[in-house]
Amino acid sequence: MALVLAGGVVANSDGVYRADVRIDGETIAGIGTCVVGKGDEVLDVSGKYLLPGGIDAHTHFDLPLSNGVRTADSFFTGTRAAIAGGTTCVIDYATQFKSESLREGLGNWHRLADGKCFCDYAFHMAITDWNESVSDELPEMISSGVTSFKMYMAYKGSLQVDDGVIYWALKRVMEVGGLLCVHCENGDVISALTEELSRRGCVGPEFHPVSRPPVTETEAVSRLTSIASLVGAPVYVVHVSAYSSMEKIIEAKARGARLFAETCPQYLYLDDSLYGGGWEAAKYVCSPPLRGSENHEGLWASLRSGFTDVVATDHCSFNFEGQKDGGHKDGMRGDFAKIPNGMPGVESRVLLMYKGVSEGRLSLPAMVRVISSNPAAIFGIYPRKGILIPGADADIVVLNPSGKTVISARTQFQNVDYTPFEGVEVPASIDAVYLRGVEVFRGGKFLEDAPAGRYVPRRASGLSVTDGGGVAGTRL
Ligand SMILES: [Zn+2]
Repeated sequence: MALVLAGGVVANSDGVYRADVRIDGETIAGIGTCVVGKGDEVLDVSGKYLLPGGIDAHTHFDLPLSNGVRTADSFFTGTRAAIAGGTTCVIDYATQFKSESLREGLGNWHRLADGKCFCDYAFHMAITDWNESVSDELPEMISSGVTSFKMYMAYKGSLQVDDGVIYWALKRVMEVGGLLCVHCENGDVISALTEELSRRGCVGPEFHPVSRPPVTETEAVSRLTSIASLVGAPVYVVHVSAYSSMEKIIEAKARGARLFAETCPQYLYLDDSLYGGGWEAAKYVCSPPLRGSENHEGLWASLRSGFTDVVATDHCSFNFEGQKDGGHKDGMRGDFAKIPNGMPGVESRVLLMYKGVSEGRLSLPAMVRVISSNPAAIFGIYPRKGILIPGADADIVVLNPSGKTVISARTQFQNVDYTPFEGVEVPASIDAVYLRGVEVFRGGKFLEDAPAGRYVPRRASGLSVTDGGGVAGTRL
């Protein structure tokens, strides 16, 4: 028996229109005004928006740090929070650590995630140890459904790779049809600034942003776009935080570069005044750090105008008590450089972007483009996901624009003792979430409290929705 969500307003990246959505099994069977078949169950969703499920293209669940600390959210708790917040698919960063093969790294992440995810999931592969045999492994990764890779220009001594490695990797990833994602911050300069601050005794969390000023990001973005133009390779810049970096991206796009930019809700809503609050500031230690509020307007404008392609979260949660502040006992408390980097966010992204819509900063189709359609298209799962059309997975968010949500650590599903967006009010609520045709969440509660998420192998794409999303000539 099929189910028809009737009377609602469908919001896709190309427009908003009143239509019924017929769900048969795991997929959408029809959208329009005459889609109800004999024997169909009809559910009235009038007054509600129906959005394609959110796709968070940047999460870190179950991530171990080199000092033995592990993120507060596992795949189980993190993907559960994702569903509650209207995200039906995450693309997490599997990581190849030093001396591992990519196959080992990917195997480690499958072991952590398989059977434990509430939403669908896919992996990027972060490469920290580039060599001939890793280069040879790339085709195998692509055929395993991992078509995007990541390198870090920051975190000297652990994750950072040099410019020569980025050059070779861009060449090779392009050759196999994949896409390289890059964390752009100048790790060498940050390391020097951190050492200099430490020598002067400036080690409180308020010095974290001082050690990574906007220019360290902007310079790295500029350097990356130069290297990519030399190679002619597409490249994806993760978590752009400063408008000066966006300007470099806009310039490169105007020159015709195949370049994609991602930002995160924390860079659109929060600012560096939060580093003034004593040890509470440790909650906001993430890299790149929060910037001055003068960046917000330009970052929103970049989203509106399509220069920023994706809003993801970089969800990487650590408890304030015992992890972020963890260090009374072992001395971590005295040094910002030892505070685990990252913040939670997977649960609040969709609603925070809707807040932007309600305040007139972004249209609803533009919101859908950056939270769902573009991440699906760029990372090779469009139009199976990222759009509500016949044949697509029935991943649907029923959003109530007459509802109200107050973001709070007390009510969140994220398994962490704070949220950076505490007390933020959104004039909407997520009434229900469907994952491949099954209603899994309604009215703040899970209907099926068992992980039903599946691994989603991805095709190569590297095309945004405006490029056509890789639709031409491809099957669902
Ligand atoms: Zn990240």
